[in-house]
Amino acid sequence: MPAGEYSYGQLHETECIACRSADGPFTSAGHVSTEADPGADPLVWAVVTCPPCTPEGEHPMSDDRLVTLEIEGLVEPVALPLPEALARLWDELRPLPLGRLQLEAYRHFLRAGAEERVRAAIAQDGMLQLSFALNGEIRLVRATPALVPAATR
Ligand SMILES: [Zn+2]
Repeated sequence: MPAGEYSYGQLHETECIACRSADGPFTSAGHVSTEADPGADPLVWAVVTCPPCTPEGEHPMSDDRLVTLEIEGLVEPVALPLPEALARLWDELRPLPLGRLQLEAYRHFLRAGAEERVRAAIAQDGMLQLSFALNGEIRLVRATPALVPAATR
């Protein structure tokens, strides 16, 4: 395949190899090779796919993957390992005047197995989004995979 068939971004892990989307998080998708000079060995490039082009079950959400936690009005987006993000969420919510039912709902969600549930939600929807009512205002809680530059993976 001539190198011109691919964009610079596709060959440098900043664009999806299938659709050229620049929206990550990207998943490693093997390699492509391009012809170098006639007679020379082909060049081999690591390539990536964007979430919609990544086969189900191959989304990157390993144990060491950081998630970005955001609690609207309370916590600016911060990248943390998932267990710490869940602990931080509970630490932030617990002192709030949320009422017994809301706190119980979050306590229930954050019980054992929460990490697996969050990973499953992120794998399926690309993010986890929750909400709670505080003083009559709805606040959002978001957990998304932290963007890690592809070159460092
Ligand atoms: Zn794509």
